[in-house]
Amino acid sequence: MIGFDHHPSVVKERAYAARNYESLPVVMTRGEGVHLFDVEGKRYLDMLSAYSAVSFGHGHPRLVAALVAQAGKLAICSRAVHSDALGPLVEKLCAMTGMARALPMNTGAEAVETALKAARKWATVVKGVPEGEAEILGCDSNFHGRTIAVIGLSTVAQYRRGFGPFPPHLRTVPFGDAEALRAAITDRTAAFLVEPIQGEAGIVVPPSGYLETCARICKEKRVLLICDEVQTGLGRTGTLLASEFERVKPDGLVLGKALGGGLLPISMFLGSTELMSVFTPGDHGSTFGGNPLACAVALESLRVLEDENLVERSRTLGPRLQEGFRALRSPVVRDVRGRGLFVGLELIPEVHAHDVVLALLERGLLTKDTHRNTLRFAPPFVITEAEIDEAVGTVGSVLDGFARA
Ligand code: PMP
Repeated sequence: MIGFDHHPSVVKERAYAARNYESLPVVMTRGEGVHLFDVEGKRYLDMLSAYSAVSFGHGHPRLVAALVAQAGKLAICSRAVHSDALGPLVEKLCAMTGMARALPMNTGAEAVETALKAARKWATVVKGVPEGEAEILGCDSNFHGRTIAVIGLSTVAQYRRGFGPFPPHLRTVPFGDAEALRAAITDRTAAFLVEPIQGEAGIVVPPSGYLETCARICKEKRVLLICDEVQTGLGRTGTLLASEFERVKPDGLVLGKALGGGLLPISMFLGSTELMSVFTPGDHGSTFGGNPLACAVALESLRVLEDENLVERSRTLGPRLQEGFRALRSPVVRDVRGRGLFVGLELIPEVHAHDVVLALLERGLLTKDTHRNTLRFAPPFVITEAEIDEAVGTVGSVLDGFARA
């Protein structure tokens, strides 16, 4: 295997950093477009994009320029004062998503927490659920982040073990089963939180019409539909929002990851005027939320997304990647699925996805397994046709090795 164990940074990381990650045996030092470079100068095609945070490619010149310009002007001032960078961003984001108002945070989990707080307060103040009784429904195998409330909704044992107690009234229903949602709703249900395509669970695409039916049920029962598009949003699945694919306009929308242009963290909770009006000054906040530096980069990211037709690229290149994988006809592949440049390749149980990840890494392709024996492929949208074909070729020859074994 690649021997990076003795790199001084890794030695120090092993000695001083918490061990909450099992990183791949490689030390990256530089990124450019769709490529990462390790400390020995070896180049990798990045099919992970930092879990979809780098949709525009590493070091996109326009985004770096926006970052540098804003950093030299004003980076952080907190929302104790107004900045001239927040307004243009929220205006643009609301115009693009069709949402009325936006609340900036920093990470995906924080924006999900914001959504849960908004939903609970809406249920209490607007819907009339007794104080402290509002319940939130989520889906089995969801991933919404790592805070205590959010893992309280998780069904993954490892994410929860030892971290309880959790806030009450968080329940889950099977993903992809709209009737199960209908049956689970009570008069105390505030919101249904859902990923339009489950990412961390293994790029799980629900049956066609699922989200649309959920939206109808939520409307009928006066329950908020909140789509967590931290991973699927901003073009990843070939439409600006994955929920758009089923013509669904959620009551609440969570964005993150790619919004920061692959340069810094910024997330956003967006919603209707009615929902957002539950927040009054002092109710909720974040020192770094909506900072000018992040706002300038996010605004330029949205412009790049439009100017370079990146949503369209994701829509047309995704099928090329999926069809490429299918055409391999590999006996170790059980399923190829996804939408846009958000593709999962599920292996037969006899093959460990992690071993395949290591073999791909050796061949200069970076990807990562999700916990259900599935490899994820979510490259930056600036990837070319030739690079897609190259990736398919590399995956094919690595899988051939596993098929022979
Ligand atoms: N929601 C979804 C759908 C995600 O995929 C993730 C991260 N993988 C998060 C929320 C959490 O984002 P963050 O790690 O920035 O807190």
